Amino acid sequence: MKAVCLEKVGAPLAERELADPVPAHNDVVVRTTAAGICHSDAHYRAGASSVGALPLALGHEVAGVVEQVGSNVPANRVGTRVALHYLVGCGDCEMCRSGREAFCEHVEMLGKNRNGGYAQRVVVPAGNAIPVPDSVDDAVAAIMMCSTSTALHALRRAGFRPGESVAVFGCGGLGMSAILLATALGAGPIFAVDISSAKLDRAASLGAHPVNPNEHDAANAIRAATGRRGVDISLDFVGRPVTVDACIRATGVQGRAAMVALMDVPAPIYTYRDLIAREISVIGVSDHLKQDAEDALSLAADGLLHLSDMITRRVPLSAPAINQVLDGLESGTTDVRVVIEP
Ligand SMILES: [Zn+2]
Ligand SMILES: [Zn+2]
Repeated sequence: MKAVCLEKVGAPLAERELADPVPAHNDVVVRTTAAGICHSDAHYRAGASSVGALPLALGHEVAGVVEQVGSNVPANRVGTRVALHYLVGCGDCEMCRSGREAFCEHVEMLGKNRNGGYAQRVVVPAGNAIPVPDSVDDAVAAIMMCSTSTALHALRRAGFRPGESVAVFGCGGLGMSAILLATALGAGPIFAVDISSAKLDRAASLGAHPVNPNEHDAANAIRAATGRRGVDISLDFVGRPVTVDACIRATGVQGRAAMVALMDVPAPIYTYRDLIAREISVIGVSDHLKQDAEDALSLAADGLLHLSDMITRRVPLSAPAINQVLDGLESGTTDVRVVIEP
């Protein structure tokens, strides 16, 4: 089968002929119909995050049709439309059995630690193949497997309840997904914090109140706009000490500040002023679980999430086309999401 692979870190992806995948007893082989090109893929190509053995077909945002099943999988799954949850756990440990596969010691990520969707076919355990509702198109289902699911997990970890106010720090893919989801789930006022006026305009077009930290202290602006209360939930998708601080200061009494962005330096937290005085919880969010991916698809099927406008371009499974999209993600692009349609 044709695949577009990372063969050497730091070099452009290359087209390769890979052996057609064969399903083990509990697996399904899926014919790829849509694979999102994610900013993380540019990081993998550049060597900014570690990946598994090379050559590797990238692509962790995948939808397709089940083409073959292993001996333990019901034959009637052949032909079903599915989207793939990208975290493949061992299926057997305490974390996997309790639906917390992201914390499995042997977890592998599709398109990072094992071959993913930049290929004509992908093999995964049957449990990772989530049925796609009829009303959701393949490209939309594919891109929901990443930032939408993680943003939903973040809102859940933060204990979001309808009517609560939310501040989103960083309005890239994850932040915009969080705004869309918070709106769909019935949030009160939503504040969008970013230094990019283009991103703030997009957030405002979705109904969020834009806050530019280059113009005023974001936390003070949010507190002023909420009658000094602060928000119930703030989400950090930036990952800098200054945004962690603003995120916590913007959070009101018994609010929750959820940390989603990766950061490799410590952030100062004033335990008395911020945590104790207002009983704020600071919460860590790591990726998402299969349940989040399933529930995100249900929200889309119920007409509560409209993501098709986010797909601004579709490209074939070709190395030059994919490398060009990854170059664009590195240098800044006007495209929102690009999807490969093999
Ligand atoms: Zn992604
Ligand atoms: Zn496990």
